[in-house]
Amino acid sequence: MINQILEELQPYNARLVAVSKTQPVGEIRKIYQAGQRIFGENRVQELMTKVDLLPADIEWHLIGHLQRNKVKYIAPFISMIHSVDSIELAGEIEKQAARHNRSIPILLQIRIAEEESKFGIKPEQVDPFILELLGKGWENLEIAGVMGMASFVDDELQIRNEFRLLKDTFDHLKSTHFVDSKAFKEISMGMSGDYRIALEQGSTMVRIGTLIFGVRH
Ligand SMILES: *Cc1c(COP(=O)(O)O)cnc(C)c1O
Repeated sequence: MINQILEELQPYNARLVAVSKTQPVGEIRKIYQAGQRIFGENRVQELMTKVDLLPADIEWHLIGHLQRNKVKYIAPFISMIHSVDSIELAGEIEKQAARHNRSIPILLQIRIAEEESKFGIKPEQVDPFILELLGKGWENLEIAGVMGMASFVDDELQIRNEFRLLKDTFDHLKSTHFVDSKAFKEISMGMSGDYRIALEQGSTMVRIGTLIFGVRH
């Protein structure tokens, strides 16, 4: 299955985050042996136990809601945090990244779903948010793009419109605040059920779990 997904990503030049949450390390190792190096987890504690048991060249991505007090645990090694939606969380990532003398790539999570959701920056708040964030002058954060989740519905048109909103938000940010940024290039969107629509709408990174690993444990 993973090879078929990788083949589908190729024409779009998109990358795969294999979402391994709840999956045992044995299953992750199989996917690793197939050549996959980027894995996504949404719980810090689970991630910490897996990091110690799996090869060091895995790039771990944090994809779910992240509490500020947990940032310190992942700061030494995390390759990307997909879910930054508050200045306070960004500030904590900056602080912990500085302690480890490194820069941490982050994505701004945008609330694109029509469904009520607690997480993500509302599209109309994106400009004030980015102005405040850039105004901090934080040097250990690498703002690498945006992330979003479409509504969990069958209506393909709705999903397509939500992904298009994320792409438009990315294009707007790029052309207003990140014209000269080489780092700002990622649009993380698309999961097992909707990644094809996401690719068609400009995704650069899909986050797929169930299709690769089967049902979650
Ligand atoms: C679980 C999860 C995924 C993967 O979902 P699947 O439907 O299993 O592919 C992607 N993104 C986030 C943020 C998730 O929490």
